[in-house]
Amino acid sequence: MSETDTIFSKIIRKEIPADIIYEDDRAIAFRDISPQAPVHILVIPKKPIPRLADADAEDAALLGHLLMTVKHVAEREGLQDGYRVVINTGADGGQTVYHLHLHLLGGRAMTWPPG
Ligand code: 5GP
Repeated sequence: MSETDTIFSKIIRKEIPADIIYEDDRAIAFRDISPQAPVHILVIPKKPIPRLADADAEDAALLGHLLMTVKHVAEREGLQDGYRVVINTGADGGQTVYHLHLHLLGGRAMTWPPG
């Protein structure tokens, strides 16, 4: 297991089960194991970027692809009334899994500010 290997690397490699709802050559989306909303999906790059703060300029197209994947998945999930996209980054951001991931939360009205 390398430094960048996390539970999400195992999901990408299909070594542990996950409810995968979308996959392409650069990204994969699966349902969060501890959902905080009726729809709670994680969209992650297959490239093991630990945090958003670790992304390079060369990752710009990949980051755009992840956002477009969120949009595509949200449409498929029927979230026409809206949704929230969250990236927790680092300790103060509340990140617990150090493989970049976008939370897609929907199916209920969100509140602001977040905790
Ligand atoms: P973070 O706190 O790093 O922003 O988010 C990590 C998310 O990963 C949490 O919402 C947590 O519930 C989810 N998670 C952690 N381990 C697993 C797992 O093994 N499978 C799935 N599907 N989600 C996980």
